[in-house]
Amino acid sequence: MSVFSEYKKEIMAAAHNEKIRLALSRAIASYRGNTNTALKKFPHTIKMAEEVREIKAKAIKEMEKLAQQACEAIESNHGKAYIAATADEALKIIAHLVGKGKLIVKGKSMTGEEIGLREHLEEMGNEVYETDLGEFIIQKLNSRPMHILSPSIHVPREDVAQLFSTITGEKLSPEDIEKLVATARKLLREKFFQADIGFSGANVVAAETGTLFIIENEGNVRLATGAPPVHIALVGMEKLVPTLSDAYKVAEVTWRYANYTVPSYVSMVSGPSKTGDIEKVTTYGAHGPGEFHVVFLDDGRVELAKHPILCQALYCLRCGGCLYECPIFAVTAGHFGDKYFAGVGAVWAAMISQNMEKAAALAYTCLTCGRCKVRCPVAIDVPEMVVELRKLIAEGEQ
Ligand code: SF4
Repeated sequence: MSVFSEYKKEIMAAAHNEKIRLALSRAIASYRGNTNTALKKFPHTIKMAEEVREIKAKAIKEMEKLAQQACEAIESNHGKAYIAATADEALKIIAHLVGKGKLIVKGKSMTGEEIGLREHLEEMGNEVYETDLGEFIIQKLNSRPMHILSPSIHVPREDVAQLFSTITGEKLSPEDIEKLVATARKLLREKFFQADIGFSGANVVAAETGTLFIIENEGNVRLATGAPPVHIALVGMEKLVPTLSDAYKVAEVTWRYANYTVPSYVSMVSGPSKTGDIEKVTTYGAHGPGEFHVVFLDDGRVELAKHPILCQALYCLRCGGCLYECPIFAVTAGHFGDKYFAGVGAVWAAMISQNMEKAAALAYTCLTCGRCKVRCPVAIDVPEMVVELRKLIAEGEQ
């Protein structure tokens, strides 16, 4: 079956799937309410978002320089940093660091998803646990994420209850969401402390200090990056900005548009754990990891940054806001996507995954209605990108 026929079959099935509609209608109502409240309470965010667009526009033009700078900073913090030109190179670097037969706890990472990190680690003979609740549900269902922030957005509580009942052998009610969350906590708790390696992504990275900002609510990232003896992070190069203060602004705008007044946790990680408490002798590996590795991934990002219109895809903060406004996403969830979703997903499929057939299917599914642009904190002009992409596809170029 061609990519297009397969996509058409999938998207039509999704559009007729009552469970997707139910789960998304619940999620969309809650997202809009929460984001509007957050923006009303912190109105400066709207102005800050304009500043963030400028920061990102400038940063993606100098990604290579920022990556070098971040690597030097991380090395001087006693971490190790690598720049991977391709997805394959990133997987090789990580494979070399991890080896086989390891227990791994993993935080949510769209970049990891992009390069098939978990599957790769599992194929190498490692045991990998997704620790974000949504990702854990997806992993156990053998499904794939359908939203950049809420990967299991398409799974209604009834299915979660059924899944967890099967895993635990205990009859769990879909109405008792607290019990479902507690079940996941119990299932994963000891894994954090048994793990050999913790994996994470990052929302933004300050090149001047090599600091990774990781936004979360569950506390799983804190544990996954704090408890095991080794922390490895995989980060797309578009996440780099020059300074700590730039990174803070990007982080604040991201969480606000991701529907939080303030997230429960923002971790800032710049190196391995250390102490100087015994005679001021700096020793690495105190309570946290003794090893800290960061892999920066290019894989087409530097090339994409040169395109005058499509480069906007690299501004994306992955707040997920546009997806809640997209009329196609509302009835199909992440089936309207590839590694990423909707209009940005179409550009990603074309320019990063080099999957023009999938990119064409996505670009022509998009209605170019522009509701996403209105919601987007960094005003990414998705309709403009999609029209440009259609032109490139028609011309048979990239
Ligand atoms: S395109 Fe804009 S609204 Fe959509 S996820 Fe990216 S930053 Fe958020």
